[in-house]
Amino acid sequence: MTYQTDLKLFIDGVWSGAEGRDCMPVTNPATGETLAQLPMASKADLDAALHAAEKAYPKWRATDVETRAAILHKAAAYLKKNAKEIGALLTQEQGKPVKEAVGEVYGAAQMFDWYAEEAKRDYGRTLVRPVGQRSIVTRQPVGVVATFTPWNFPIYLLAKKVAAALAAGCSVISKPPEETPACVNAVAKALDEAGLPAGTFQLVHGDPDMVSRHLMASDIVRKVSFTGSVGVGKHLMGLAADGLKRLTLELGGHAPVLVFDDVDLEKTLDKLVPQKFRNAGQVCVSPTRFYVQEGIYDDFIKGFAERTAKVQVGNGMDEGTQMGPLAHERRLPAVHDLITDAKAKGARIAAGGEPMGNANFFQPTLIADAPLDARIMNEEPFGPVAVARPFKDLDEALEQANRLPYGLAAFAFTNQLQRANILGDMIEAGMVGINNFAISGADTPFGGVKDSGFGSEGGKEGLETYQVVKAIHMS
Ligand code: NAD
Repeated sequence: MTYQTDLKLFIDGVWSGAEGRDCMPVTNPATGETLAQLPMASKADLDAALHAAEKAYPKWRATDVETRAAILHKAAAYLKKNAKEIGALLTQEQGKPVKEAVGEVYGAAQMFDWYAEEAKRDYGRTLVRPVGQRSIVTRQPVGVVATFTPWNFPIYLLAKKVAAALAAGCSVISKPPEETPACVNAVAKALDEAGLPAGTFQLVHGDPDMVSRHLMASDIVRKVSFTGSVGVGKHLMGLAADGLKRLTLELGGHAPVLVFDDVDLEKTLDKLVPQKFRNAGQVCVSPTRFYVQEGIYDDFIKGFAERTAKVQVGNGMDEGTQMGPLAHERRLPAVHDLITDAKAKGARIAAGGEPMGNANFFQPTLIADAPLDARIMNEEPFGPVAVARPFKDLDEALEQANRLPYGLAAFAFTNQLQRANILGDMIEAGMVGINNFAISGADTPFGGVKDSGFGSEGGKEGLETYQVVKAIHMS
């Protein structure tokens, strides 16, 4: 499929292209080829989006829930119908294997379908009061929402925020990642074709700092939801303070994986290695710090390294590719520097470790015996790198799992029930997967603790994040 070149902004129901705006190139990370020029929103565009969202909000909020749900279902149907084409755009812009990209589009469609129904189940509650009196607790939409989403799952993460916000009755202005504009435009197209009223959802591409500062300085925006790095999250929290804007922050992690010696090692490795290299490790819940019980540590390293060396790296559009390139050229030195530092501090490179010399490709990598003061044991690599260390017992495993300021996802592999229960209780993370990586879905609250941010996306909690609580008392 050829790449769509007429990239546009979507403001107040109107698609507009370059037309005098500044542009930036969109690059295919597998080839280095420039795919298109992306028009960037000006301050005047952002003001137009703000006013359109403000105007659209009362009408959308007053639209009955069945009508809102029908529009969200139609958008989901559009995404499913066009999943193959949209997935191909995503792969060309971001690099992931096209099968993963198409799966992501279906995941986004599921968000719209699920929130369409969840909005109908938003019942509130009635408090016990004397005869003739009523006290009702109800939830109402928060107002105009601004979202900022990253390039690693550009369609899914956008849909996760937008589906919940629209279901709640909010109007939304989204700044998607500038690296992947065509695939996210398909989400706007889906909502437009589904009959969403003008101004209710708008997509503004542009310079992230300028766009976020401008939108967050406006009194029109009442809620901000961001997915990205801890540094940018803290910066946005500062901007939100001025206008006391509500905030959801999903800021990544450094997921520990505790592997105990009672597991079937070969079967466990068959699960772990593909999970590590999914989306080239550019996943906020990517399994990264592998702590392995000492009796099976050497066999673990051997088995992990053998499987890592066999991962098929290539252009995501090619059949058989299991791992694509890194999404952006700035990620190559970022990942490589962490590996060089670990080596200098005495770690052993058990597989990979180097850029592959063409475009943004990087070898799937395993680092063994990484010392705790290596940067990679403390900073999220956000790339195709696993690090491994041995541990003695449950206490040490827990101490290692909890030693970083991150707390997004954590995983453990064991067949002992009581140990599994203790791990579930004691690991400091928003999501704990025990013998299981399926920690994200439309019905599942997803979010972190500590430096990984706050607030949940997905599940009923994801709807509530776009609502305010009101108590009404009558007598
Ligand atoms: P980055 O922090 O510059 O950007 C991350 C995302 O935030 C991008 O999509 C970017 O457009 C957006 N962004 C940046 N500055 C912004 C601002 N001032 N206002 C609003 N949005 C802004 O980093 P990067 O080089 O793109 O990615 C590297 C790091 O980002 C990774 O190491 C990882 O920690 C983090 N990251 C996390 C996730 C996640 O799912 N939590 C996704 C992508 C990146």
